[in-house]
Amino acid sequence: MAESQTKESKNKQINSVAIMGGTFDPIHNGHLRIAVDIVDRFHFTELRLVPCFIPVHKSHPSISAKQRLDMVTLAVEQHPSLLVDDREIKRTGASYTIDTLIELRDELGPEVPITMVVGMDSFLSLPLWYQWQRILNYAHILVVSRPGWHPEFDIELQELVENSRAQSAAELQSAPAGKIHMETLTELRISSSMIRLLCEQNKSIAYLLPESVHAYIDQHTLYQ
Ligand code: ATP
Ligand code: MG
Repeated sequence: MAESQTKESKNKQINSVAIMGGTFDPIHNGHLRIAVDIVDRFHFTELRLVPCFIPVHKSHPSISAKQRLDMVTLAVEQHPSLLVDDREIKRTGASYTIDTLIELRDELGPEVPITMVVGMDSFLSLPLWYQWQRILNYAHILVVSRPGWHPEFDIELQELVENSRAQSAAELQSAPAGKIHMETLTELRISSSMIRLLCEQNKSIAYLLPESVHAYIDQHTLYQ
C-alpha cells in the first residue's frame, strides 16, 4: 500500500471515507474548498484525493503524473483530514474509477461507508464511464454543484438518480454504498484549464490555488 495513503490513516479509526478523483492538472482552490467543506459538513474521517494516471475521457495531461501528484501532495500538507492516494498513478495504464473503488472496498472491508465525490460536470458524463452501473455497489456518489453546470440528466442517469437518491446527506454515513446525494457547496468558478490558459498567456494565477502549488509551477516552469 502506498505510503502517502496510509500516513494519516494508520493510527486512526476509519469510520467513513470520501474520495475525489481528478486529473489535478493542476489542483486548485475549487477542488480544495469543496474537499474541506465535505469533511467538515458531512463528517467523513478523511477525504482522499486520487490523481489519475491516464484520464479516460480527457486529452492527455501536459505535464507528468509525478508533477501532478507532487502538487496534490503540497496542497494537502496543511490539512490533517485531506490525504493523497497515489494508487492510480502506481497502477499506471488507464485509470478506471471502478478498479479504484474495488481495491478500496477490499482494503476497508464491507461495512465502511465510501463516498465518491464528483462535480456536476463529471456526474453528467457518468454514463460514459467504464462499468458505471457497478459504481454504486461499491460507493455512494456525492455530486457537488459547479458554476455553469446544471442537473440536466439524460434518461439513463435520470433513472439512476431516481432509483438511488438519498433523503439526506446522513444516508451517506448510514450504509456502506448505494446512494446518490447532491449538494451546493462553496461555488468557485475555477478550473485547471483556466489556470493553464492564464499561464500560457503569462498572466497571474495568484489566489486560484495554494501558494505552495503556485511556487511549484513557477519553479518547474509548467504550463508555459
Ligand atoms: P480541467 O479544466 O482540466 O477539466 P478541472 O478544474 O475540471 O480541470 P479536474 O481534475 O478535471 O479539474 O476535476 C476533478 C473533479 O473535481 C471533478 O469531479 C470535477 O467536477 C471537480 N471540480 C473541479 N473543479 C471544480 C469546481 N471549481 N467546483 C466544483 N467541482 C469541481
Ligand atoms: Mg474537468
